[in-house]
Formats: sequence, C-alpha cells, structure tokens
Amino acid sequence: RSKRRGRGQITVYSQEIAQEMKRATHLEQALRNAIIANEVDVHFQPIVRLKDDMIVGFEALARWCDADLGYVSPAVFVPLAEERGFIDALSETLLRKAAEAALSWPKELFLSFNLSSAQLMDPKTSLTTLAILNRVGLDPRRLELEITETAVMTDAETAQKIIAELRGAGVRISLDDFGTGQSSLGRLRDFTFDKVKIDRAFVSRISDDRVSEHIIKAIVAMCDGLDLEVVAEGIEDFSEALKLKALGCGMGQGYFYGKPADAVTTMRFLSERYLRVEPEAAIA
Ligand code: C2E
Ligand code: MG
Ligand code: MG
Ligand code: MG
Repeated sequence: RSKRRGRGQITVYSQEIAQEMKRATHLEQALRNAIIANEVDVHFQPIVRLKDDMIVGFEALARWCDADLGYVSPAVFVPLAEERGFIDALSETLLRKAAEAALSWPKELFLSFNLSSAQLMDPKTSLTTLAILNRVGLDPRRLELEITETAVMTDAETAQKIIAELRGAGVRISLDDFGTGQSSLGRLRDFTFDKVKIDRAFVSRISDDRVSEHIIKAIVAMCDGLDLEVVAEGIEDFSEALKLKALGCGMGQGYFYGKPADAVTTMRFLSERYLRVEPEAAIA
C-alpha cells in the first residue's frame, strides 16, 4: 500500500517538475525574444543624501512586461537569465539603456547598476562593462556597481580581480542587501568596496524593533570607521527617514523619496525640482 502511494507521489511530483520546466522554458523564450525586440526596460529610483534630502544618484532597476505573461519581476527573470546562460545579453542591454539615460542627467549624479552573481564569476565582465560605458560615452566615475555578499563569496578570486579592474577604471562598488548574505564580516575584509547598502529588512523594522535599530547603528559605525559610504534601502515613511538621519546614515532610498520611474519621468522629475526632493510631492 505504501509502495503504491509512493509511486503515486512520484508521478505527481514529476508532473509538477515537468510543468515547472515547461513554464520556465516558455518564460525563457519570451525573455529572449523581449531582449531581441528591445522590450526589456530600465527604471530609475532616486538615492538621496539624508543630510539635506538632495538627490545624489539613481539605481537602475530592470522592468519587463510581457504581452501574455504581464509584469514579471526582475527577482524572477534575472535569475532565470543567469541559469539559462544569457545574463550577459540581458545585462548589456540594460546597462546600455541605463547609461544612455544617465547621459542626460546633471553630471554630478551617479548611476547605480546591479551586477548579477554570475557576472562576478565571469572574467570578461570588467571589459564588457567598460566597453559599454565607452561606447555610450558615460564617464566610468559616474557608475556604481551593486554586488551582493553571496556573489563575492562564491568565486572570491575572480570576483576580486573583476572588482579591482573596475575600480582601477574609476567605477565604484557597493555591497547590496548588506546583512542578509552568507558572508562573515571577516571575509569581507579581503574586498575593497566603496559603499554599503543596508537591506530593507532592517529598515522596515526600525520603528518597532530595537534590534534592527541597533544593527543599523552598528553598520553605520563600522562604515564610518572604514570610510565606506552607507545607504539605507527601502525607506517608506517619514518616521523611518527621521530615525535614519538621527542614526547618522549618509544616504537613503525608498518609496518615501521616490518609486522607480521610467527614463522620461525621471528626466521630468529632475528638471522640475532639480536635485532637492520634496517627499510630499514626490512622483507616484
Ligand atoms: P535590489 O537591487 O535590492 O533593489 C531594490 C528593490 O527594492 C527593487 O525591487 C526596488 O523596486 C525595491 N524597493 C525600493 N524601495 C522600496 C521601498 O521603499 N519599499 C519596498 N517594499 N521596496 C522597495 P525590484 O525592482 O523588484 O528588484 C528586485 C531585485 O532584482 C533587485 O534588488 C536586484 O537584486 C534585482 N535586479 C533588478 N534590476 C536588476 C538588473 O538590472 N540587473 C540585475 N542583475 N539584477 C537586477
Ligand atoms: Mg540593488
Ligand atoms: Mg538591495
Ligand atoms: Mg533588498
């Protein structure tokens, strides 16, 4: 009896796997087509200096809306492109679009772009990245690349080499989603970063959780000591912004200051209230 049930489970299980594989392959094909048809877009979210709420840069975030599938999150399609081996093609399109948009912004604003973990294991990444900037005409000193702890730890030697090459050309490196990865603080000593982005998980609990507040306090102190810049991600309301300012956090980002918006909206936003963000009137 148990045997039969076991066999039944295997059948159901393999059907689920088959269905999942079919779905992923459909998604893959749709994404490959979207890249070729130039339908994958990039949006921009402001990053502000908390001292005076001035915009200092924007983070580029990939956006894809398929005619049949609807909105697909980058948290789904970026890992898919990595697994199926075409993250290079995806990332190149995204960086080109983001860099082109950044060309029309005031020169003092930086562009922050997410590198996927697969790209940090590919020695070609530094060259292709710099080639795109060169082609578009964006100064490498205006680019920041966001990488995660986990990505850095997977193939530390290659990652270190890529980071060194990019930094040598003037690109800055920020450590994204800090506090959630699999690294130990000791291992991070082997890498040179310019900036740390405190994960939204800590920020979103800062108002009702003393532990999160102390963790942020400790990260800010560590960054001050190491001469690293620090950004708090996911600031959603005024009281979170106030708390982070009080903790001495240098920069912030989140829906409170502005949601990700397309290149045209971002330009309009910049020209209307150049540099100073007025959160009450921030773009929807
Ligand atoms: P991330 O790099 O940590 O980006 C921050 C995410 O938090 C974005 O989600 C952003 O829209 C969201 N966010 C910003 N402010 C707030 C807030 O106040 N509240 C809340 N609840 N969320 C906020 P998104 O755009 O869905 O991107 C998810 C992840 O996908 C990114 O996390 C990043 O890891 C990845 N990703 C996005 N675009 C790219 C890309 O061009 N290349 C690569 N390799 N990865 C990307
Ligand atoms: Mg990021
Ligand atoms: Mg992040
Ligand atoms: Mg995050």
